[in-house]
Amino acid sequence: MEILCNDRELFVFKKVANAAAELGLPTYLVGGFVRDKLIGRPTKDVDIVCVGDGIALAHKVAERFRPAPGVNFFKTYGTAQLKLEDMELEFVGARKESYSEESRNPEVEPGTLIDDQLRRDFTINALAISLNPDDYGKLIDPFDGLRDMALRVIKTPLEPGKTFKDDPLRMLRAVRFASQLQYEIAPETFQGIKDHADRIKIITQERITTELNKIILSPRPSVGFELLYRSGLLELIFPQMVDLAGAEYIDGRGHKDNFFHTLQVLDNIAPHTDNLWLRWAAILHDIGKPATKRFEPGHGWTFHGHEVVGGKMVPRIFSKLKLPAHEPLRYVRKLVELHLRPISLTKDNITDSAVRRLLFDAGEDLEDLMTLCKADITSKNKQKVHRYLENYELVQERLKDVEEKDRIRNWQPPITGEMIMETFGLAPGRLVGDIKTAIREAILDGVIDNSYEAAYGLMLSLGKEHNLEPVSNL
Ligand code: ATP
Ligand code: MG
Repeated sequence: MEILCNDRELFVFKKVANAAAELGLPTYLVGGFVRDKLIGRPTKDVDIVCVGDGIALAHKVAERFRPAPGVNFFKTYGTAQLKLEDMELEFVGARKESYSEESRNPEVEPGTLIDDQLRRDFTINALAISLNPDDYGKLIDPFDGLRDMALRVIKTPLEPGKTFKDDPLRMLRAVRFASQLQYEIAPETFQGIKDHADRIKIITQERITTELNKIILSPRPSVGFELLYRSGLLELIFPQMVDLAGAEYIDGRGHKDNFFHTLQVLDNIAPHTDNLWLRWAAILHDIGKPATKRFEPGHGWTFHGHEVVGGKMVPRIFSKLKLPAHEPLRYVRKLVELHLRPISLTKDNITDSAVRRLLFDAGEDLEDLMTLCKADITSKNKQKVHRYLENYELVQERLKDVEEKDRIRNWQPPITGEMIMETFGLAPGRLVGDIKTAIREAILDGVIDNSYEAAYGLMLSLGKEHNLEPVSNL
C-alpha cells in the first residue's frame, strides 16, 4: 500500500483503520479507488467497504478529524460520504444483491466481503485492500483483476449475461472503461453486451448520458463509439449517429462513410480540447448529411445545406439526451451551422466583407470553430492534409488582419432597435428588425462606414422608403 498511496492518504486510511478496529468491523479499500491506484490514474474518490454498518463507521471516522467533517448518509442505500478538503470517502456496508427482471434496483442484504466483490461489475473493479490489523495493506483479488489490468481487458466476474441483465447500465460502463483506459472488452463479455443491448431501455436517460459524456471525454473517443456501434447500443441510445454510417455507390461513385469520418474528427479534436461541448460539435457537425444526401448525375454525391439541417437537429438531439438546453446548445448549434464557412474563405479573391461576416457570426467562438475545421480534415493523403492546414493558416492570418482593422468580433451595430423605435415613434415589430438588419448588413458589406453618423443617415433613408418621418432627434 505504501507504494500506491501518498503520505496524506496513508494518514487518512490509518484513521479509518483505527475507527474500524474500535467498532470491530472488517474494513477494506475497494472498487474504483483501488483500480485507479493500481493503474496509476489520479483519483480522489475513495471507496471503502466494511462488513457491518458503513454509516456508523463513517461517523466514527469523522470524529477523528478536527474540525470534524460533516457526514452525508443515505439510509436506504446504507452508504455514507465524508468530504475532506482534498478527498472524498465513500463508505458502504458489504452487501449481497439479488435482482428482479424489471428493475435495476436490487434486493439488498448484508453480506461478506466476497459477496460485495461479487456484486461489482468488472474484475478490475472488484479488487480490495485490507485495512484490518492482521493483514493491513493486503490485496484481495478473487477474480484476477490484476491479471486483467496487465492484459488490458474489461471482463465481468460472473457470467456476463447475468451481470448485464441485472443492471444494463454496466454495458455502458464497460464501453466507457474500454474507451477511458483504452482496454479491450473480453469477447464473451462483449457478446453479453450484444445479447442484452435491448435492456438499456430500463436505464434513465441521465445515467446513459453521463456515461456517453465520459466516452466523449476519453482520450480516443472512437474506441468507445465503435464499441457502442458494434454492440448495437448506439442504435438504441443515439440513432442519428448510426444514420451516418455506410457509403452508397451509384454509377461507380461512392461517398465517404460519414460515421467513421465523424469518429476521426472526434479523435482529431480530442488532443486539442477537453471542452465537452466542442467535442459534441465535432460529433454533430455532419449530422445533417443523411437527410440532405443527393446523387446528382454527372456530378456525384452532394450534401447541400447539411450544416443548416444539422443545426436544426441539434435541439432535438439535446433534448432527447437530456443535455443542457441553454448555453451549450446555442454554442454547439452555432459551430455546426458555421463549420463550412472557414473553408469557403480558403478560395481566391475573398473580400474583406466575407471575412468580417465570419468574424461577426462566430464572435467569441472563432478559435473553437477553427479548431473544429482543422479536425475536420481527414484525408489519408498527407500532402493534401498539409495543404489544407496551410490554407487555414492563411485564413487565420486574414481573420486576424481584418479583426485588427475593424474590431468586428465583439461589435454591435451603432444603431439599436430602441433607437429606431424612438426616432420614428414605432412600436416593436418586424419593420424595426428589418431596418436594424439592413444597417448591420450595410456595415458588414462595407457599403457604409462603421460609424454612428453613417448608420444614422442610412436609418433615415430606409425610414423614408417606408414613408416614415423622424418624430424625435437622437
Ligand atoms: P468513476 O468514478 O470513474 O466514474 P467507478 O468505477 O469508480 O468509475 P463509481 O460510481 O465511483 O464508479 O463506483 C465505485 C465502484 O462501485 C466501482 O468501481 C464498482 O466496483 C462499483 N460499481 C459502481 N457502479 C456499479 C454497477 N453499476 N454495477 C456494479 N458495480 C458498480
Ligand atoms: Mg469512482
